[in-house]
Amino acid sequence: SSFAEIDLGEGLNRNIKRCNYVRPTPIQRYAIPIAMAGRDLMACAQTGSGKTAAFCFPIICGILNRNHHSRPGQLACPLSLILSPTRELTCQIHEEARKFSSQTGVKIVVAYGGAPISRQLQNLERGVDILVATPGRLVDMIERERVSLRMVKYLALDEADRMLDMGFEPQIRKIVEQMDMPPSGARQTMFFSATFPNEIQRLASDFLSNYIFLAV
Ligand code: AMP
Repeated sequence: SSFAEIDLGEGLNRNIKRCNYVRPTPIQRYAIPIAMAGRDLMACAQTGSGKTAAFCFPIICGILNRNHHSRPGQLACPLSLILSPTRELTCQIHEEARKFSSQTGVKIVVAYGGAPISRQLQNLERGVDILVATPGRLVDMIERERVSLRMVKYLALDEADRMLDMGFEPQIRKIVEQMDMPPSGARQTMFFSATFPNEIQRLASDFLSNYIFLAV
């Protein structure tokens, strides 16, 4: 099987070729069609499995199909949020997502702690479709009223188990609460986790609706 068999659209297909991705990895083969069909997803995926593309491709595709791009402004309103536990992982996801969305017009901004917030806020002001963030820094931005999550249609949590191990559950719950306030509409949520302890299952049942469980 190849990526050409999945209808990801011209721009994304061109970028996939540029990245020299020829064949989808197992997680990509199963997760991408499920996500493209609009379903919520809880996927068991390890580092190196290709999980970044598995959630980025459907998100980028969904944003391009919506034909709506976020405008510059003091209050950033991303259409998609990708949460990850650490600065390193967040930066990696940002780098990959930028390659995948190159020359499509999709705007991606990264936000993480341990670095000055001012530059990140400036980037947000220029407009953002996809925000890749660590939970603590995002809560800070929400409290400063520089980010609204009311427009988020695609939410991905990467390494959800690690985020809980690091004590981010209160922040994650606070973040998701923002997305459940009006005028938020239907949202698609994708969970990626290496392990599935009870706490992850509880979080998944709170955040996901009628989801598909995937273990590859
Ligand atoms: P990830 O698990 O998302 O961190 O991906 C691990 C590595 O595999 C990254 O360097 C990706 O760029 C690469 N990769 C992901 N999917 C594919 C693919 N379908 N073909 C070739 N390389 C890939």
